[in-house]
Parts: sequence; structure tokens; C-alpha cells
Amino acid sequence: MSTLSPRNVQIYGVNVNTEHADWTRVNDLHYLRSDCAKAYLRMQEAAAVEGVHMDCASGFRDFAKQHAIWERKFHQDPRYMALPEAQRVHAILQWSALPGTSRHHWGSDLDIYDHHAVERHALKLEPWEYEQQGPCNVLYCWLKANAHNFGFFQPYDRDRGGVAPEPWHWSYAPLANAYLAQFNSSELALVLAQANISGQAVLLAQLDQYVNQYVYNVNQYNPLLTQSKG
Ligand SMILES: [Zn+2]
Repeated sequence: MSTLSPRNVQIYGVNVNTEHADWTRVNDLHYLRSDCAKAYLRMQEAAAVEGVHMDCASGFRDFAKQHAIWERKFHQDPRYMALPEAQRVHAILQWSALPGTSRHHWGSDLDIYDHHAVERHALKLEPWEYEQQGPCNVLYCWLKANAHNFGFFQPYDRDRGGVAPEPWHWSYAPLANAYLAQFNSSELALVLAQANISGQAVLLAQLDQYVNQYVYNVNQYNPLLTQSKG
């Protein structure tokens, strides 16, 4: 059985220190890996020149935070509480990442919204907010046309039978693709085995299936899009 190095566990959101120089704070609350933060801040500035505004609604999130979300949904959310465990796990996974598998653990991914059009506390992170007439639609159209020039792409661009579409969620490809390549479900199994996580037996028994469906089953960054910029 493999063991976990302190470096490896960071992919699963464990033992991350955002005070380290690898990390940059992009607003009052949120941190990103510095390379991602730099690209994001350049993108934010370029958009502002065109009168388009963006802020980070959620950046880095660690295992403990994702674990707390998981436990709340597992035990207190009326949509899931009544379901048998296996079904409950599956239902929660469509909307919330399994702790250890969130792309927000990597510091390469963030949720973006238009803070001039909607206040953070009023933002629901629902698709309609990014569709026509929605408060974040102008921003979303700008991102679809320009984000690739800054290295960003949408991992959850459409329904692929895994994570539901998330127009607010953007990934910085140079980092995110490297973390996805390093992701390893046996390491994840060790992290989950050590955590006191509800549904553990179900999760560990079907972990490869969950990882294939929710972690690997995403849109891939197309480098041709950036090359075409010339
Ligand atoms: Zn997100």
C-alpha cells in the first residue's frame, strides 16, 4: 500500500498553508495559487478596461471545509437525509464534490461572478444567473470569448453525467491539468480512510467509479484556442 507524502496530500486539500509564497489572496476572503492568481488578476484588469466586472466568489477550499459541507448535506439536508446511503452519496455528488476531489483544493480553480450586478450574499451560483437576463450574463459572455487567452477554461461546461454544469467555475489550465494528472484514487482512498467521513464504506467500495464519473469526466482545455491568438 502506498503512503502519502506531505506534498501529495495537498492535491486532496490536506496540509495546505495559504500563507506560503505559493499562494496569493485575490480579495478579502479568497486565496489562489500564485500563478493562477496572477493570470486571474490580469484577466480581471483586461475585462475592466472593457467595462466588464468580475470578482472571486470562491477560490481555494480545503479538505476540512469540503468535509463540513459533506456532513451537513449527509445528515441535515432534507433533500438527501431520507435516502439510503448509496443513493444519498450519489445524489450529493451531483452538486457537491466529495472531500478530497474538489478542484477548489488545488488553488487553480475559482468561481467568478459580477460583483457590480449582484451582491455576494445574494448570489446563488445557479445557472440562470449566467444565462440571458441573468446578472452575470455579460460577464459570462466575456469569459467565454476571452478567458482562454489567460489560460482559463470551463471544466463543467455542460452535462456529462457527472458534475452538473457550472458556468461560474473556471480552471487555470497550466496548474489544473498538472494536478489532474497527479490525482490518484489510491491516495484519495488513504485520505478518506483517515477522515471520519459519513458514507465511508460506500465511498471506498465504489471510489474508482466516483472518480471516473466526477473527477475525470470534465471538459478538457483545448490548447488550439490559445494558439489561434497568434
Ligand atoms: Zn467552483
